[in-house]
Amino acid sequence: MSTNEISADLLVVGAGIAGITAAVEAAETGLSVILVEKRPYIGGKVAQFSKYFPKLCPPACGLEINIRRLRSNPLIRLYTMAEVSTNILNDSGKHEVNIHLKPRYVNNKCTACGECVKVCQGRRKNEFNFNMDETTCIYIPYENAYPQKYIIDKKNCEGRCCSKCAEVCKYGAIDLEDEGAVIPAVVDSIIWAAGWEPYDAKNLDVLGFGRFPDVITNVMMERLASPDGPTKGKILRPSTNEKINSVAFVQCAGSRDENHLEYCSSVCCMASLKHIKYVREQYPDAEVHFHYIDVRASGMLEDFYRSIQSDNKVHFHKGKVGKVTGSVSGKLIVHSEDTLTGKLIQNEVELVVLATGMKPSTAGLPIESSAIDKNGFISFNGSLSSQSSGLTGCGVITEPKDVASAVQEATGSILKAIRTIKRN
Ligand SMILES: Cc1cc2nc3c(=O)[nH]c(=O)nc-3n(C[C@H](O)[C@H](O)[C@H](O)COP(=O)(O)OP(=O)(O)OC[C@H]3O[C@@H](n4cnc5c(N)ncnc54)[C@H](O)[C@@H]3O)c2cc1C
Repeated sequence: MSTNEISADLLVVGAGIAGITAAVEAAETGLSVILVEKRPYIGGKVAQFSKYFPKLCPPACGLEINIRRLRSNPLIRLYTMAEVSTNILNDSGKHEVNIHLKPRYVNNKCTACGECVKVCQGRRKNEFNFNMDETTCIYIPYENAYPQKYIIDKKNCEGRCCSKCAEVCKYGAIDLEDEGAVIPAVVDSIIWAAGWEPYDAKNLDVLGFGRFPDVITNVMMERLASPDGPTKGKILRPSTNEKINSVAFVQCAGSRDENHLEYCSSVCCMASLKHIKYVREQYPDAEVHFHYIDVRASGMLEDFYRSIQSDNKVHFHKGKVGKVTGSVSGKLIVHSEDTLTGKLIQNEVELVVLATGMKPSTAGLPIESSAIDKNGFISFNGSLSSQSSGLTGCGVITEPKDVASAVQEATGSILKAIRTIKRN
């Protein structure tokens, strides 16, 4: 064991809702856990959502409870801005990995007092809000981020970095020379929980994304509706910053399409139905057009769907959208065919929301290619070789799913981990 090598029963890669759940549940059974997250904060996509379907409660509640469980458990070692490279199964059945820590340029002495922000002159696009606004180059990813610690976007402030943040920080928390680190680790079992990324809507040029500012994606809608989002929770037309009178939801934008994502992401229908509720809360009279191939709202979620169907200003159109164009009045026209009537329709609206699907974040993970299916999801769950080598996956990395299913799978994955750990 090299001097800085660490060890644990379990390594969890990805600290979204699935990874946090797996880490906390494992630690509460007495396992030691290393939790590795590539972003500067934990929580994954759920941290970016305004509300959860079907109850429409804020995701912060569930997340905060889990973060509290995580913080109070000494068996969990959390590394943010960290990724795992190499994964070698040694002769004693343990995994040898390297954890790469990217430089944060702010150390643990940071108290999040915010004095640095007042003097920072650089600006960067805010990826937490899908680039719909900017932050200073020294920033906290979002208000309730954990860890509650600043970070410097050195790429953006380089050349114009004034170092004033370091001058005003009375705690000595700024370290502009930070180079990151590599930590070797040995673990008995690994749970991959790296989740998903939104399918890149720039690939959908016929649907107008990137050409028309009023064509946004479903994840952008979550940020627009969030009280801590770029418009402080007001759903406004990006091109004018004015209120909206009409909106179209374009389902399966790139999904169930062999040129983009072949599969159904399973949650987009429910997410868009939830977005209709967001719109209705703010605009009681707005006209809403919902373009779908099939509405997938199974089990108890069907009641949620029915509550939206009873809204007489929500118009359902069965048929895939062919294109989105601009109109002479500066609005957008959604072109589609209504397959129930066989008629071509053109709806003029002020805002278009593309329901883009979930793409698994398996790229770059040290996993053998035979364990990744043709769509990029991990598929070794249940296979004998993965059982003997102590690997499993949970959350959207194994297939598209909602939060409740991700949490259930995370809890189940612990049993698989325990089996390997006991055997070792
Ligand atoms: C528009 C939209 C709205 C939705 N709304 C709801 C809803 O209201 N209710 C509901 O139940 N579900 C909803 N969902 C589904 C929900 O987003 C997923 O179920 C949930 O995000 C799954 O969590 P996860 O932990 O598997 O993945 P993620 O949330 O993606 O978390 C994965 C984590 O792993 C990290 N990571 C990625 N790669 C690496 C790496 N190489 N190394 C280390 N860390 C890595 C990521 O940074 C991230 O923090 C919605 C989905 C969409 C698209």
